[in-house]
Amino acid sequence: MIEKRIDELIEIINKASIEYYTNDNPSITDQEYDDYYHELEKLEEEHPELIREDSPTKRIGGKIIDEFTKVIHEVPMMSLGDIFNEEEVREFDQRVKKVIPNPTYVCELKIDGLSVSLIYEDGKLVRGATRGNGVIGENITHNVETIKSIPLKISDKRKIEVRGEIYMPKKSFNLLNEERAKNNEKLFANPRNAAAGSVRQLDSKIAAKRNLSTFIYHLPYCENFDIKYHHESLDFMKKLGFIINPNILTTSSIEEVIKYINEWGEKRDTLPYEIDGIVIKVDKIEDQKKLGYTSRTPKWAIAYKFPAVEVLTKLNNIEFCVGRTGKITPRADLAPVHLAGSIIKSVTLHNEDYIKEKDIMINDTIVLHKAGDVIPEVVRVEKSRRKGIEIPFKMIENCPICGSKLERKENESNYFCLNPNCDARNIEGLIHFSSRETMNIEGFGESIVEDFYNMGYLKSIPDYYKLYKEKQELKELEGFGEKSINNLLDNIEKSKENSLEKLLFALGIRYIGKKTAKILAANYKNMDNLMNATYEDLIKINDIGDIIADSVYKFFKEEKNVKLIEELKELGLNMQYLGNETIDENFSNKTFVLTGTLSNMTRDEASLEIENRGGKVTSSVTKKTDYVIVGDNPGSKYDKAIKLNIKIWTENELLERLK
Ligand code: NAD
Repeated sequence: MIEKRIDELIEIINKASIEYYTNDNPSITDQEYDDYYHELEKLEEEHPELIREDSPTKRIGGKIIDEFTKVIHEVPMMSLGDIFNEEEVREFDQRVKKVIPNPTYVCELKIDGLSVSLIYEDGKLVRGATRGNGVIGENITHNVETIKSIPLKISDKRKIEVRGEIYMPKKSFNLLNEERAKNNEKLFANPRNAAAGSVRQLDSKIAAKRNLSTFIYHLPYCENFDIKYHHESLDFMKKLGFIINPNILTTSSIEEVIKYINEWGEKRDTLPYEIDGIVIKVDKIEDQKKLGYTSRTPKWAIAYKFPAVEVLTKLNNIEFCVGRTGKITPRADLAPVHLAGSIIKSVTLHNEDYIKEKDIMINDTIVLHKAGDVIPEVVRVEKSRRKGIEIPFKMIENCPICGSKLERKENESNYFCLNPNCDARNIEGLIHFSSRETMNIEGFGESIVEDFYNMGYLKSIPDYYKLYKEKQELKELEGFGEKSINNLLDNIEKSKENSLEKLLFALGIRYIGKKTAKILAANYKNMDNLMNATYEDLIKINDIGDIIADSVYKFFKEEKNVKLIEELKELGLNMQYLGNETIDENFSNKTFVLTGTLSNMTRDEASLEIENRGGKVTSSVTKKTDYVIVGDNPGSKYDKAIKLNIKIWTENELLERLK
């Protein structure tokens, strides 16, 4: 059984390695490869008697293709062991400390390209080679000579070998793939494969056109130079004219190492090139020698790999949700998968057109990503993995809850359930009414609203304000009790004081979001004025267009809506606009942009706080932006802010000022 799995894993890994290293055309993701590889490592560790002579855990890299002249690496080019979390970083530190009690580490960015060895003699570049299998590599001097950041001459006449990474900047990669798409050529999976595919060409004109670059990070050999520290070798190579990555940390503290890893994990998207982790190296060469090597990796260095931002998973089924407006949203039910720190079990598929455009079928393998933002999305379907068991998508014709016929209006992508009594619509409408951004009735989350609805206590909006009449009964409900019911009722009572815009947003008038509700409330000051507004009055307001004016006007013309407002008035709800709550100099009349994930609040909550203090939140960074607030994994907005010299606040700085 175990032997069979080992054979299977070796077969998968060998196939993937050829595709990756020899053909520069992977068919599985790095994360999948790493998972298979570690499964094999684990089985070999538990059953050393089953280790095969030809196991990939004993070898580095891939096969050498015959078209290239072979070179021998006098100092072998090794791979790096990899680790994936803080605990493993500490374990590495402990392993080192057993041999070297007080080590100093150098931390570097792990550039996602391919390694290259460059040999200089008499001040001239004489050989450039790939790593190959670590001992035998391929001679790629003709291509290396076309890379502008590699000096063809250096001032030092000694024999010197330097090593580093050839990479393709993100921008060049995007341009290259755009061009290939136009010419109907196969796209490169990522910048690493594009770089590798460019230097492993016989015709150097191709590499010359590809805008490749390098970072040099290792000095394995220099004639008559007794190098004592790795950091010293980096300085030396820099002086010779090689490009050394500037983001280097030298430290004796493992806490600092972890901080560096976390910081770069957050900032990696802001770099113009891809990194896939951090390399931690013992600084002193004598210490490195004491620590030594395994058959394929040094024991004095390790690669921490960042979690993947793209993962593959299986789409098991497509379900349909009914929103408060009756909108039907298809949602993919997924095989649970880890993605950037959370487990994803489902993802929205938006609508029928989206599914058709992406050609999504049930049982497909899909690629998910979660860059910068919190919400995962489908990037594409891996069609090469289809097995013939995929089921084409078919839009439903009836509401999955009430069964009434769905309608898709002309020029709209969405289907709607038009039944005003559909339970799903009602429940969603009630949840919307009590949610944080609308009436903010704390305690009335999805499950309570649904339970109260099903038990008959909460069938329509006014029922919130009549719940106090049921107090005795509610107290007896399992899981509640006097205190929690009192809290819920207090929260309902408090919500009566909300300013008009909150109520307007809460009513669920089509096309009226938070911003529009505020504009309407600020213009009309109270509900009666707004209810009496004609379509012509409404359309005159800045930022109110035809669709919104029409929707508002029609809403207040409907008898049942007028009755609803009357009832809410009688129940004591405030119908006046109360204006901006507070004016705060830090925020008033300033424009903000949020990017990345905040850890203490959602972006919507942060926006609300800023707006309540007189600030404006917009979605793109321009010269007019005053502040950019940066959370984890910020996107391109952060780059732009730096470019335009716009002030940056971290989440903590924002929280300080909100206090
Ligand atoms: P690696 O890429 O995980 O790490 C070693 C390499 O890191 C070095 O050879 C060097 O090129 C590079 N590097 C970048 N910056 C560096 C720095 N500052 N200092 C030192 N080295 C630095 O190891 P590998 O053996 O080249 O490749 C193994 C990995 O390749 C796997 O873990 C997997 O992620 C990927 N892979 C994927 C597939 C696939 O099918 N998707 C197949 C094979 C391998």
